[in-house]
Amino acid sequence: MKDALRIRSVGAESGTRAQGFITIGEMPSGPMQFPVVIINGAADGPVLCLTSGVHATEYAPIDAVMRIAQSLDAATLRGAVIAVPVVNMRMFESRTGFVSPLDGLNLNKVAPGRADGSFSEILAQVLLDEVIGQAAYHIDLHAGDLGEMLLPFAGYALTGKRELDERGEALARLYSPKLISLATSDGKIPPFADGICYAATRRGVVSIFAESGGNGTLEEADVRVHVDGVTNVMRYLGMIDGTPSTVGPRVMGRERQVVRATRAGLLRLRVKIGDELVAGQEVAEVCNVFGEVVETVRSSGAGIAGLVWAHKVVNTGDPVVRYWIV
Ligand SMILES: [Zn+2]
Repeated sequence: MKDALRIRSVGAESGTRAQGFITIGEMPSGPMQFPVVIINGAADGPVLCLTSGVHATEYAPIDAVMRIAQSLDAATLRGAVIAVPVVNMRMFESRTGFVSPLDGLNLNKVAPGRADGSFSEILAQVLLDEVIGQAAYHIDLHAGDLGEMLLPFAGYALTGKRELDERGEALARLYSPKLISLATSDGKIPPFADGICYAATRRGVVSIFAESGGNGTLEEADVRVHVDGVTNVMRYLGMIDGTPSTVGPRVMGRERQVVRATRAGLLRLRVKIGDELVAGQEVAEVCNVFGEVVETVRSSGAGIAGLVWAHKVVNTGDPVVRYWIV
């Protein structure tokens, strides 16, 4: 028999599962808490932590973690899975994008958090110390947030420790259908230095950042990228049966550039996520309220369209497309 796995009041013996809420504070309406599911396999193996809903209007990753948590069988699982399907419950129930309605902070920009801080900082600290910190491997599942259409990718923050970095890169390659991002500490590409994954890697957890879906949607194809990615990683780690597979070449994102409108009006997009852009290519046209075309927005360089904003009206300086230089 292997050891029981416990996070505060939620504990699972070997070969069993448990679920419940972890309370980290209170609101006038009741406890401030997040849900956790522990599936503690009967056989030995690594502990994998899955988190989604750090940004809780990113629905494809949330649905994927819910489905995976429901589908795993403790009797056959090797090792254990700790799943937090919705990290930020206040964002989830109020359908708030980007930042917590409680303190205005982005949970993925306050890591490693602090016990004597505001809600998001407390949440980051508990998540890292008591949840992710129990695992050898961690995947933080994301999507484009509200108004962001995003090309799937997986990223890992390099630590300089070869053994960890080899496993981190392997996980990112196994997860992503195409694009991967290996971040260094200068922080031009994700995962960034104040993010949950970055903080986890500094504590010796092999932690990757995985994106699929966006713009407040819940599409089967986007969920599938996440479910397939986690399944592939779990096969690689020997936690479930099957051979991990990578289909097609992986492309390494090295830098990102944002193309912005300089004029204002209705935006007629000419690109979609995944398009390969060349320098000077038209990405959108802006027309003023009289219907006159006032700007042709062109790509500043060559790359792959990784984020296309869903807004159809722009003001001066608004982003149109962000592309990966690969
Ligand atoms: Zn996110």
